[in-house]
Amino acid sequence: MKPSLYIHIPFCKAKCPYCSFPVVVGQDERRWAYLVELGREMARHATTAVATVHVGGGTPSFLSDADIAGLAAMVRKNFVAEEHAWACELNPESVTRAKAEALKAAGFTRVSLGVQSFQEKYLRLLGRLHGRADALRAFELLRAAGFKNINVDVMFGFPGQATEELDADIDALVALGSEHVSLYALTVDEKSLFHARGVKVCDEQQADGYRRACARLNDAGLVQYEVSNFAREGFMSAHNLNYWQGGDYIGVGMGAHSHIDGVRSWNADTFPRYMAMMQASGSAETGREQLDAARKMMETFLFALRMVAGVDMAVLQQRFGCEFPRGCRDELDALAAEGFIFKEGTRVRVTDKGRLVLDEIAARLI
Ligand code: SF4
Repeated sequence: MKPSLYIHIPFCKAKCPYCSFPVVVGQDERRWAYLVELGREMARHATTAVATVHVGGGTPSFLSDADIAGLAAMVRKNFVAEEHAWACELNPESVTRAKAEALKAAGFTRVSLGVQSFQEKYLRLLGRLHGRADALRAFELLRAAGFKNINVDVMFGFPGQATEELDADIDALVALGSEHVSLYALTVDEKSLFHARGVKVCDEQQADGYRRACARLNDAGLVQYEVSNFAREGFMSAHNLNYWQGGDYIGVGMGAHSHIDGVRSWNADTFPRYMAMMQASGSAETGREQLDAARKMMETFLFALRMVAGVDMAVLQQRFGCEFPRGCRDELDALAAEGFIFKEGTRVRVTDKGRLVLDEIAARLI
């Protein structure tokens, strides 16, 4: 299986208070210098064939139209990339007609729009720089540019969010008619400004909201295939499927992670350090570890449990040439008895009840 390629664009106009991603605010004038270092990093993998290309962030749409063309040229120069699976993340306020057309001309086939909510009060709470009208306009511009595969990111579980407000967001989302939806509960990460401000979310409210949103999306023909992802037929995310199936991936850019042939590595996750390391040595790698077959199998298993279809343990054992430990199999039996997972022969999948507590399930299985 060919690896996927992830390119991290760390620039953002402002830091959203819930964000814990490696980002850099402003630094507009250093955009091109960063792209040059990305090119040098890509050159280390030159001629590798990749199945998918995903540009994420940060805010990739912070790049100028010329930057986007330059980045696409760098990818084509250094990789043998499948042309039908190029994706880019966008923030609504930075989508213009010219940018949508530049992305299409550069060869991107899928775009992912960070809408998060259709309600002004929650967009303000999240510190987003766009309003509802910007999101609707961005979507239309992307359609007009010819994008037939659009994902929309939406969040739920905001403090105090009423059921009717969640329903209104899902209705607005369905009305857009995107081919794919990623649905995330608001989390308060320890590294976020929300955490410093003492923002709290309610687990029960989020569990109810999740069940309700999943049902409404499925009813609208956006079929859930992963814990947070829904797609119309033929529009599952090829890039993410590779992660969830334990495929290899090459990550370039600040804070990017890679996994190639059992070796996991990661880059410096601050802008000054990434740039300094790249300029000094052509590598920003700050750590690496070798995963043995048993660990790689367990990681693949836990990722695959995120898929609604579940995972065949016998297939994984054959693929990795080792067996699941006795303790893990006993814990799976206990989780099945408690109604968190469903076992059918060697196939295991998480139940609706289990999908709400995936992290706890993973902790019990490791
Ligand atoms: S949530 Fe997105 S737009 Fe906001 S700071 Fe983080 S990466 Fe940037």
